[in-house]
Amino acid sequence: MRLKVLGAYGASDAEHNLTGYVIDDWLAVDAGTLTSKLSFSQQSRIQAVFITHPHADHIRDLPHLIHNRFSQATGPLTIFAAKEVMEILSRDVFNGVVWPDFSGIISPHTGKPGVQYRSLTPGKRIVFNEVGLTAVAVDHAIPAAGVILEMNGQAIVFTGDTGPTQEIWKRTNKTQGVVAIVTEASFPNDQQALADETAHLSPQTFGEELKKISVDAPVYASHRKIPFERDIESQIRNLRDRRARVLLEKNYTL
Ligand SMILES: [Zn+2]
Ligand SMILES: [Zn+2]
Repeated sequence: MRLKVLGAYGASDAEHNLTGYVIDDWLAVDAGTLTSKLSFSQQSRIQAVFITHPHADHIRDLPHLIHNRFSQATGPLTIFAAKEVMEILSRDVFNGVVWPDFSGIISPHTGKPGVQYRSLTPGKRIVFNEVGLTAVAVDHAIPAAGVILEMNGQAIVFTGDTGPTQEIWKRTNKTQGVVAIVTEASFPNDQQALADETAHLSPQTFGEELKKISVDAPVYASHRKIPFERDIESQIRNLRDRRARVLLEKNYTL
């Protein structure tokens, strides 16, 4: 599978982008960075987006992706999220005030709504376009769920933002063909208290999470806060676990 990392940071400036990933050009995970780094025609190939949680850095480009899709003659965009996350998106974002609810507006180009929402029950695997999707709850400051994606005998795991957690690692350890795990390390070790308080990981607690993971696949730290990125990178290296990597904004072939 091909993993395009459009954004690998928990903050943004001219050279660092918010969380956004695309697999095989059509399946996105989080939408902090999608429209701002994809051409109009690349956006038209996105068929589905899984949203881990409603924090602004993970949904910034989602209203714009939906809006652009409305003016394209392509099939509807499917938004996946765990049930509790979807309820917040509907109530607080696509509420007709912050942004229209495009699921109720017929596109003049296709005669159908440009977007459809699919709420997922955490722990229950569904199949979409021959890809298995399992949302799994993680431990963040607000309702949040990562996702395990299985396709063509390979699997990839995205936790999204999380503090120390359990369930997604249990599921990961039981999943066949895991080729990569993308989790986070937001703050350096000297800000452990802030990481704990905001339900994020530091390299130190990332290292503790690694011990819960029994699969032999690279485990990437994403969502670094910009001012501390060098410290976080060197602290991840100092874990001396060959699986521990820092996620870069580039294309990976897995
Ligand atoms: Zn975030
Ligand atoms: Zn968050």
